[in-house]
Amino acid sequence: MSDCIFCKIANGEIPSATLYEDDNFRVILDMGPSRRGHSLILPKNHYENLFELPDDLKGEALKVASKVGTAMMKALPCEGVQIMQNNGLAAGQTVFHFHMHLIPGYESEGPGATWVPGTLADDDKVNIPEAIKAAL
Ligand code: AMP
Ligand code: ZN
Repeated sequence: MSDCIFCKIANGEIPSATLYEDDNFRVILDMGPSRRGHSLILPKNHYENLFELPDDLKGEALKVASKVGTAMMKALPCEGVQIMQNNGLAAGQTVFHFHMHLIPGYESEGPGATWVPGTLADDDKVNIPEAIKAAL
Protein backbone atom coordinates (compact mmCIF):
# COMPACT_ATOMS: atom_id res chain seq x y z
CA MET A 1 0.00 0.00 0.00
CA SER A 2 1.60 3.23 -1.20
CA ASP A 3 0.45 5.42 1.71
CA CYS A 4 1.16 2.97 4.53
CA ILE A 5 3.98 4.09 6.84
CA PHE A 6 4.70 0.56 8.09
CA CYS A 7 5.02 -0.71 4.47
CA LYS A 8 7.64 1.96 3.88
CA ILE A 9 9.49 1.19 7.13
CA ALA A 10 9.32 -2.59 6.68
CA ASN A 11 10.74 -2.34 3.16
CA GLY A 12 13.50 0.10 4.10
CA GLU A 13 12.10 3.12 2.21
CA ILE A 14 11.98 5.00 5.52
CA PRO A 15 14.93 4.46 7.89
CA SER A 16 14.18 2.80 11.22
CA ALA A 17 16.01 1.46 14.27
CA THR A 18 16.01 -2.15 13.01
CA LEU A 19 16.99 -4.97 15.37
CA TYR A 20 16.08 -7.97 13.20
CA GLU A 21 15.28 -8.59 9.54
CA ASP A 22 14.58 -11.64 7.36
CA ASP A 23 12.83 -12.25 4.02
CA ASN A 24 9.34 -11.59 5.41
CA PHE A 25 9.70 -9.44 8.53
CA ARG A 26 11.50 -6.44 9.98
CA VAL A 27 11.58 -5.73 13.72
CA ILE A 28 12.00 -2.09 14.75
CA LEU A 29 12.00 -0.03 17.92
CA ASP A 30 8.61 1.53 18.65
CA MET A 31 8.85 5.34 18.49
CA GLY A 32 6.62 5.67 21.59
CA PRO A 33 7.97 2.90 23.82
CA SER A 34 5.97 1.68 26.79
CA ARG A 35 9.20 0.22 28.21
CA ARG A 36 12.86 0.54 27.15
CA GLY A 37 13.33 -1.74 24.12
CA HIS A 38 9.61 -1.88 23.10
CA SER A 39 9.71 -3.24 19.56
CA LEU A 40 7.34 -3.98 16.68
CA ILE A 41 7.37 -6.99 14.35
CA LEU A 42 6.29 -5.84 10.87
CA PRO A 43 5.62 -8.08 7.86
CA LYS A 44 7.16 -6.68 4.65
CA ASN A 45 3.90 -7.18 2.75
CA HIS A 46 0.78 -5.25 3.69
CA TYR A 47 -1.89 -7.04 5.75
CA GLU A 48 -4.26 -4.89 7.75
CA ASN A 49 -4.55 -7.17 10.74
CA LEU A 50 -4.16 -10.73 12.06
CA PHE A 51 -7.24 -11.91 10.19
CA GLU A 52 -5.69 -10.94 6.83
CA LEU A 53 -2.22 -12.32 7.60
CA PRO A 54 -1.66 -15.66 5.79
CA ASP A 55 -1.45 -18.66 8.13
CA ASP A 56 2.21 -19.43 7.34
CA LEU A 57 3.16 -15.85 8.32
CA LYS A 58 1.16 -16.14 11.55
CA GLY A 59 3.44 -19.02 12.52
CA GLU A 60 6.56 -17.20 11.37
CA ALA A 61 5.62 -14.05 13.32
CA LEU A 62 5.49 -16.08 16.53
CA LYS A 63 8.88 -17.64 15.76
CA VAL A 64 10.32 -14.14 15.24
CA ALA A 65 8.73 -13.05 18.54
CA SER A 66 10.38 -15.97 20.34
CA LYS A 67 13.80 -15.39 18.75
CA VAL A 68 13.87 -11.63 19.32
CA GLY A 69 12.24 -11.92 22.77
CA THR A 70 14.97 -14.35 23.87
CA ALA A 71 17.64 -11.93 22.65
CA MET A 72 15.91 -9.04 24.46
CA MET A 73 16.03 -10.94 27.76
CA LYS A 74 19.79 -11.43 27.36
CA ALA A 75 20.73 -8.10 25.83
CA LEU A 76 18.68 -5.39 27.52
CA PRO A 77 18.52 -7.27 29.89
CA CYS A 78 14.87 -7.69 30.91
CA GLU A 79 13.16 -10.35 33.01
CA GLY A 80 10.09 -10.92 30.80
CA VAL A 81 8.52 -10.01 27.45
CA GLN A 82 4.88 -9.13 26.78
CA ILE A 83 3.47 -9.88 23.34
CA MET A 84 0.59 -7.60 22.37
CA GLN A 85 -1.29 -7.42 19.10
CA ASN A 86 -4.31 -5.18 18.40
CA ASN A 87 -6.88 -5.72 15.65
CA GLY A 88 -9.34 -2.94 14.82
CA LEU A 89 -9.85 0.57 16.17
CA ALA A 90 -12.09 -0.73 18.97
CA ALA A 91 -9.25 -2.97 20.14
CA GLY A 92 -6.68 -0.18 20.21
CA GLN A 93 -5.13 -0.58 16.75
CA THR A 94 -3.86 2.76 15.48
CA VAL A 95 -1.69 1.70 12.52
CA PHE A 96 -3.56 -0.54 10.11
CA HIS A 97 -0.66 -2.70 8.97
CA PHE A 98 -0.37 -5.89 11.05
CA HIS A 99 2.21 -5.58 13.82
CA MET A 100 3.07 -7.43 16.99
CA HIS A 101 4.36 -5.55 20.02
CA LEU A 102 7.28 -6.99 22.01
CA ILE A 103 7.34 -5.15 25.33
CA PRO A 104 10.20 -5.92 27.70
CA GLY A 105 9.16 -6.56 31.30
CA TYR A 106 11.39 -5.22 34.06
CA GLU A 107 10.97 -6.46 37.63
CA SER A 108 11.63 -2.93 38.87
CA GLU A 109 8.80 -1.41 36.75
CA GLY A 110 6.15 -4.12 36.25
CA PRO A 111 4.44 -4.85 32.94
CA GLY A 112 4.07 -2.10 30.33
CA ALA A 113 0.57 -3.11 29.23
CA THR A 114 -2.15 -3.94 31.76
CA TRP A 115 -5.94 -3.96 32.04
CA VAL A 116 -8.49 -3.63 34.83
CA PRO A 117 -9.97 -7.08 35.55
CA GLY A 118 -13.79 -7.30 35.53
CA THR A 119 -16.11 -10.09 36.69
CA LEU A 120 -17.25 -13.04 34.57
CA ALA A 121 -21.04 -13.23 34.73
CA ASP A 122 -22.67 -16.67 35.07
CA ASP A 123 -24.79 -16.32 31.88
CA ASP A 124 -21.71 -15.22 29.90
CA LYS A 125 -19.95 -18.43 30.93
CA VAL A 126 -22.61 -20.31 28.94
CA ASN A 127 -23.71 -17.86 26.25
CA ILE A 128 -20.34 -16.62 25.02
CA PRO A 129 -18.74 -20.04 24.39
CA GLU A 130 -21.96 -21.23 22.70
CA ALA A 131 -22.10 -18.20 20.39
CA ILE A 132 -18.43 -18.33 19.49
CA LYS A 133 -18.41 -22.08 18.87
CA ALA A 134 -21.36 -21.60 16.51
CA ALA A 135 -19.44 -18.90 14.60
CA LEU A 136 -16.18 -20.90 14.11
P1 AMP B 1 -1.19 -0.08 17.75
O1 AMP B 1 -1.89 0.87 18.69
O2 AMP B 1 -1.22 -1.51 18.23
O3 AMP B 1 -1.69 0.07 16.33
O4 AMP B 1 0.34 0.32 17.81
C1 AMP B 1 0.93 1.23 16.97
C2 AMP B 1 2.33 1.47 17.50
O5 AMP B 1 3.11 1.99 16.45
C3 AMP B 1 2.39 2.48 18.65
O6 AMP B 1 3.03 1.85 19.77
C4 AMP B 1 3.23 3.62 18.08
O7 AMP B 1 4.08 4.19 19.04
C5 AMP B 1 4.00 2.93 16.98
N1 AMP B 1 4.39 3.76 15.84
C6 AMP B 1 3.59 4.54 15.08
N2 AMP B 1 4.29 5.11 14.07
C7 AMP B 1 5.57 4.66 14.20
C8 AMP B 1 6.78 4.89 13.48
N3 AMP B 1 6.81 5.70 12.41
N4 AMP B 1 7.90 4.28 13.90
C9 AMP B 1 7.89 3.47 15.00
N5 AMP B 1 6.77 3.21 15.71
C10 AMP B 1 5.64 3.79 15.33
ZN1 ZN C 1 1.34 -1.47 5.05
